[in-house]
Amino acid sequence: MTNTNTAIHTHIPGFPRIGAARELKFALEKNWRGELDEAGLEAVGRALRARHWALQHDAGLDYVTVGDFAFYDQVANHIQLLGCEPARYGFSAGQSQLERYFTMARGRSAASAHGADCGCGQPHGDGAPSAAAALEMTKWFDTNYHYLVPEFTPETSFALSCERLFDEVAEAQALGHAVKAALIGPLTFLWLGKSKDAAFDRLALLDKLLPVYSQVLDRLKAQGVQWVQIDEPILGLDLPSAWRSAFENTYWQLNQVGVPLLLATYFSPLEENLSLACRLPVAGLHVDGVRAPHELTSIADWLPVHKVLSVGIVDGRNIWRTDLDAALAVLAPIADKRAGKLWLSTSCSLLHAPFTLAAETTLGSEIRSWLAFATEKLDELYVLKRALQGEYDAGTTEALAVSRAAIANRRASPRVHQAAVRERLQALPDDADQRRSPFAKRQAEQRARFQLPAYPTTTIGSFPQTPAIRSARASFKRGDLSLTEYEATMRAEIAYAVQRQEALGLDVLVHGEAERNDMVEYFGEQLDGFVFTQLGWVQSYGSRCVKPPIIYGDVSRPKAMTVDWTVHAQSLTSKPMKGMLTGPITILQWSFVRDDQPRARTALQIALAIRDEVADLEQAGIGIIQIDEPAVREGLPLRRSRWDAYLDWATRAFRVSASAVADRTQIHTHMCYAEFNDILPQIAAMDADVITIETSRSDMELLNGFGQFRYPNEIGPGVYDIHSPRVPEQQEMVRLLQKAGAVIPPANLWVNPDCGLKTRGWAETETALRNMVAAARQLRAAA
Ligand code: GLN
Ligand code: ZN
Repeated sequence: MTNTNTAIHTHIPGFPRIGAARELKFALEKNWRGELDEAGLEAVGRALRARHWALQHDAGLDYVTVGDFAFYDQVANHIQLLGCEPARYGFSAGQSQLERYFTMARGRSAASAHGADCGCGQPHGDGAPSAAAALEMTKWFDTNYHYLVPEFTPETSFALSCERLFDEVAEAQALGHAVKAALIGPLTFLWLGKSKDAAFDRLALLDKLLPVYSQVLDRLKAQGVQWVQIDEPILGLDLPSAWRSAFENTYWQLNQVGVPLLLATYFSPLEENLSLACRLPVAGLHVDGVRAPHELTSIADWLPVHKVLSVGIVDGRNIWRTDLDAALAVLAPIADKRAGKLWLSTSCSLLHAPFTLAAETTLGSEIRSWLAFATEKLDELYVLKRALQGEYDAGTTEALAVSRAAIANRRASPRVHQAAVRERLQALPDDADQRRSPFAKRQAEQRARFQLPAYPTTTIGSFPQTPAIRSARASFKRGDLSLTEYEATMRAEIAYAVQRQEALGLDVLVHGEAERNDMVEYFGEQLDGFVFTQLGWVQSYGSRCVKPPIIYGDVSRPKAMTVDWTVHAQSLTSKPMKGMLTGPITILQWSFVRDDQPRARTALQIALAIRDEVADLEQAGIGIIQIDEPAVREGLPLRRSRWDAYLDWATRAFRVSASAVADRTQIHTHMCYAEFNDILPQIAAMDADVITIETSRSDMELLNGFGQFRYPNEIGPGVYDIHSPRVPEQQEMVRLLQKAGAVIPPANLWVNPDCGLKTRGWAETETALRNMVAAARQLRAAA
């Protein structure tokens, strides 16, 4: 080691807690099923923490991070730490801390935990709030991780109420580690919560909250932690001025405790908050050097020299190996300016990255060499540190050489670059995203062609994925079922779904998606440019993990993906059969995306592949094609100033996928529940002939914005919640449709459920759809 004064330190804002083999997930689910007691669950947690700290320590990090572990969610941990469990739970003294914790996370009874998964990868609340409803969940900034939303009222009080964090610090110390404790900062904690009473400003709680934070810091100081990382990622958002102004006083108070604070920001540039962040009275500042590399120079200049600057140089949100030479070129001048006060880190917590590459055996050695998951990113930090300190020993030199070779190989690999795709993109006419005629003309042609009744009925695509379907797929994957047998089984399932829909009297049918495991994976597996990991799981919420595909190269479609299935389904009915595709933005958003070209270009490549599929479906006689885009809204940048640029390319990508068809071909799109009001012009600009959206839980309120905006095309507002097994009555749906008809011209209305039915059973699905068809007929008769 060189002189510790000049030494560069390394750390990470957080590590994945789910475990290399998702041990935490399985232990949690056992505990919820009553097969593992609390002591057993705690033991699993302890073992995982010990293992994860050992990884950090053995990789040469200067501190291990403590406080990033949670049995469900880190925000929920803070609710208990700070003693603000909502009063509505009426917890009694006899209940254990964990029992209360899981009650907040999952609702009062385990059976009524978060609604069924519709395949959109998002959690769904329990519906109507009741004393037992779980806390709401929402996305953690622009990630696919969901946190539990704290609830605040004017009466909310705070008190240090949980020993877990301190116990974990002691645990790490007993294992001999140098500890950096991590906390969510008070302003971010309040910001992430919701005011239960609209008139109440939760910032007003700050004065009550700060003394408890001071106590927490006092305790950590007494334990002898070296540093406390305090996360305030809201500094990367467009903050109201009252929130911005609260920072100085907050950190002035917290700094009084005298434990060194590392204020951590991530996910977004600091922009107008940059000088504020540099000025705050804390001992150090962590910034995201991946999302905001252009701010590094100003920060290195402006941050007072006595403060530590932690540069998140290794991408915590993606799976690519870091270009270490490029990173060193960025870091070297900063290291000169910040002598002795530079730390290296990942851009954000590694919660958002899969655990380790070590377990991946099927990726192929070339692609594998381009990747770094959480564990490998720790090693990258160490190499960067050694190199910056000028310690070019054999290990460092070798690691740099390996990295350099992999980067060069990836850059030049023919797997990544396909001339045909590049040329097609270059030659793409400007109007490739325009339908041949305006909507009014298309609508007239489509009406003449399909002769649908008023209030046409349809569904969103999937029908129940029954145990029989899932076990057939599993047998096929295991090799116990031949391709022919598997396909015959799926064809029979499709025939069954078609028959049921005909019997129900639906107007536009779907094939039911029996053959699809997942709406993104299904297409990714058939497209060039995608690979799949075996164990690349990332926590989505609680025990739920997703395994996003990796888009590593130019995307193209070797052959038609859905045509045979759709044509088979169409051959079974004289009703129109809707072709069913996933759109380019959703495929992009739910994957790990290559970082060697703009996301916009990758989106356009996917769009072209989908466009070809749309054209093939049309060619095969399919007259109605749905391109699902539930993820458009979640792709929005955290800063509003960047929304337009994103929405421009995102909506263009959708239109490119949808525009190669004749006027008489009807394009649908579908989006799950989201706040649409502030992006309605762009949703309209997608120009789908029909959009179906999830609206029933908002009691159709969501449709008001569409009405005020005079949304021009046809709309199918969901008339029943598919996340619950409850079967809606005909009159309920009639009422919702009447409400819809008051804001949208009834001639433009479709009748459909909120989303796909894959998680439901057939019995409830049939009753619900029968009532839905009856509701549509009642409205037709009344018209
Ligand atoms: N077509 C898909 C289905 O019905 C749509 C899923 C979704 O919107 N998340 O399952
Ligand atoms: Zn949906």
